[in-house]
Amino acid sequence: MTDAYTLTPAQKAWQDHEILNQFFGPLPLEPRRIPMRELISTLLSHRTTHVDEELAYDRMLETFGDWEGVLAAPVKELAHAIRTTRWPDTQAPRIQEILRRIKAERGEFTLDFLAEWPVEQGLQWLTDMPGIGLKTASLVLLFNFQKPVLPVDTHVHRVAQRVGMIGPKVSTDKAHQVLLALLPKDSVVLLNFHKHNYWLGQHICFFTRPDCPRCPLKGFCNYYLEHYGPADAAALAATPARWERSWGELQH
Ligand code: SF4
Repeated sequence: MTDAYTLTPAQKAWQDHEILNQFFGPLPLEPRRIPMRELISTLLSHRTTHVDEELAYDRMLETFGDWEGVLAAPVKELAHAIRTTRWPDTQAPRIQEILRRIKAERGEFTLDFLAEWPVEQGLQWLTDMPGIGLKTASLVLLFNFQKPVLPVDTHVHRVAQRVGMIGPKVSTDKAHQVLLALLPKDSVVLLNFHKHNYWLGQHICFFTRPDCPRCPLKGFCNYYLEHYGPADAAALAATPARWERSWGELQH
């Protein structure tokens, strides 16, 4: 069984994709929310739970009516409306600056033009916005416009490092290109790779004390090899074949 631990990073990335596709089930590539919402909600989600992010987004639009109202709102009132997020006083002026730029450049609050733009141009335009990093820009381009990019958050980054797809010194930002280079430029594969590794990091490959015995990647994961030795037939046979709903809700 030790051979699997010496796979190349690209082989590990593909193995990861295939195994997690079985474990969590394949996902279709369809927008989960409209582009403007994806952009602003992802900004609000930084270090914030999904429930609190949704609460902030809903309160913001209930209070100010629409994007025009959010843009015109006194910044302190906007910060109050999004107070369930981690840094409301920082995020409120950022949201207004993003809205101001979009309106000034496009004449309306839309991101639909990104569908026609090449990936690099879209990434550059989005990451020029205040508070928008590569992860958020990639989420918008992948989820809403089916562009072949890979969002890498802290969970995807941690799993990729532990398994051995990327080196220990590769930053989260750098991992966007390094991991993308290991995978086919297929948006459905990239979406599934992102979501599956995100879920694995959230529910099994915890930051402290990863639950390796329950993990379907143990057969080729460097961290597992280091801490437990090569997975033997009994350890592999004891691994659950599929995610059980009773273990927790998977956030889509
Ligand atoms: S075997 Fe352990 S360290 Fe490796 S990916 Fe799974 S949970 Fe994470």
